[in-house]
Amino acid sequence: MTATYITTTIPYVNARPHIGHALELVQADVLARHRRGRGDAVRFGAGTDDNSLKNVLAAQAAGVGVQEFVDRNAEAFAALGGALSLTVDDFIRTSRDPRHRPGVERFWRACAGDLYRRRYEGLYCTGCEQFYPPAELRDGRCPEHETAPEQVSEENWFFRLSRYAGPLREAIATGRLRIEPAGRRNEVLAFIDGGLADFSVSRPAGRAGGWGIPVPGDPGQVIYVWFDALCNYVTALDYDRDGEEYRRWWAGDGNRVHLLGKGVLRFHAVYWPAMLLSAGLPLPTAIFVHDYLTAGGRKISKSAALDLGALEPAALAAGYGADAVRWWLLREVPRAGDADFTVGRLAARSDDELANGLGNLVHRVTAMIHRYRDGQVPGPGQLPPGGADLDAAIRQAPGLVAAALDEFDFRQATAAVRAVADQANRFINRARPWDLAKADGGRDQLDAVLHLLVRACRALGRELAPFLPDAAARITRQCTPRDGRLPAPSPVFRRLAPRAGPQGPASPSRTPRPARVPAESGSAG
Ligand SMILES: [Zn+2]
Repeated sequence: MTATYITTTIPYVNARPHIGHALELVQADVLARHRRGRGDAVRFGAGTDDNSLKNVLAAQAAGVGVQEFVDRNAEAFAALGGALSLTVDDFIRTSRDPRHRPGVERFWRACAGDLYRRRYEGLYCTGCEQFYPPAELRDGRCPEHETAPEQVSEENWFFRLSRYAGPLREAIATGRLRIEPAGRRNEVLAFIDGGLADFSVSRPAGRAGGWGIPVPGDPGQVIYVWFDALCNYVTALDYDRDGEEYRRWWAGDGNRVHLLGKGVLRFHAVYWPAMLLSAGLPLPTAIFVHDYLTAGGRKISKSAALDLGALEPAALAAGYGADAVRWWLLREVPRAGDADFTVGRLAARSDDELANGLGNLVHRVTAMIHRYRDGQVPGPGQLPPGGADLDAAIRQAPGLVAAALDEFDFRQATAAVRAVADQANRFINRARPWDLAKADGGRDQLDAVLHLLVRACRALGRELAPFLPDAAARITRQCTPRDGRLPAPSPVFRRLAPRAGPQGPASPSRTPRPARVPAESGSAG
């Protein structure tokens, strides 16, 4: 059984989660569910980066103690698991988890041969928690935050990154460490080829407000938050005591897959692998990099003009359903390139593809089984005339989904599932079951048509499971006989947008509204 360890990055908790955080969690959840479904042993790790200087500053600005502030926001991140139907196996919090600090200390000691102390002067962006060479600034400002960095002069511990250019390049170029999409791999290779400078891995404890993990043997310094945070991928696996989980999920020959945003690529594809090489640990096997979401055309982290409460994934899921939120993230966000979120787009995508597409199909098919066969699904027979395309779409879907997810292409994977629903809707219109029901001698053919359509709906229930676990369960329930009969048809998805007219945006509601049944099915349902 292949062991696959899938992680998201652990976000700073200087604020509550927004829709951008949900993207990575949902993508990781899809991969975890899909691999579990095909029999892999999977561990899905997530968490929060509590030990950031950024958290300290945000707590001070809010007039709240750092631990209280961090706890409050970290809980909101942990609660996304339930809100978005995530199958997170382990949620690590770097300030509280008893496994973390001893693990980081062990990792630090394992890198001792590459650590040295020196005085450093540079331009520091607290938002990024990193020093910037002047050449990387834009008009003297941080390219990520557009704020002016601080001039800092201090004594730090440094990590000898310069030693690892060759081995890193080899691992990435050969695909031993796979970086997707290819544009990101090329970006990392170009960065390595530009020359790797040693980087600072500690901060004076005073500047960090005493927050963070002290450097072993040098308590006047705390470990740089990035060094600390990156270690979470192994400290969450009891690396501190070289435990069984560490040996199974990291040191074994399985897959180690990191998901991350483009802004932290360098940390994950250069610093972290170099740290692992230095400590004598295996490298990740794959890194998938997503781009950013904007909301209504604005960068979400530059939040002043946005109603962030309305962008909280838990609030969106409560208002529109976890299925709709997940579906928007999986369908609309491209493999490379930014995507813009609005509630209107979320509702339109859900109504068009889920309520009108998938949901309407399942409703039509189960309604016909009730109308024409008293709820009993006909047994398998000949493939009905005109059913070849649908039969092919059903057969091909699992392979297409797997191939797309191996490429981290969530749009392509969901398109393969949608193709089954599209073919099924087309087939209904061609086969005209309502005419067969009236025709003399149409009985066997109607049975064959209905059987194929139920097969299509059951395939949707199976193939949707990694993407929309809640809806998939509802579809499967609708298509599974109880005491020989299918349950009475009920809507699988509710419509989110107002039906017509200028009433304004959809208002969140917990009451399911039935999917609209288009006119052409009138004679069938
Ligand atoms: Zn910055």
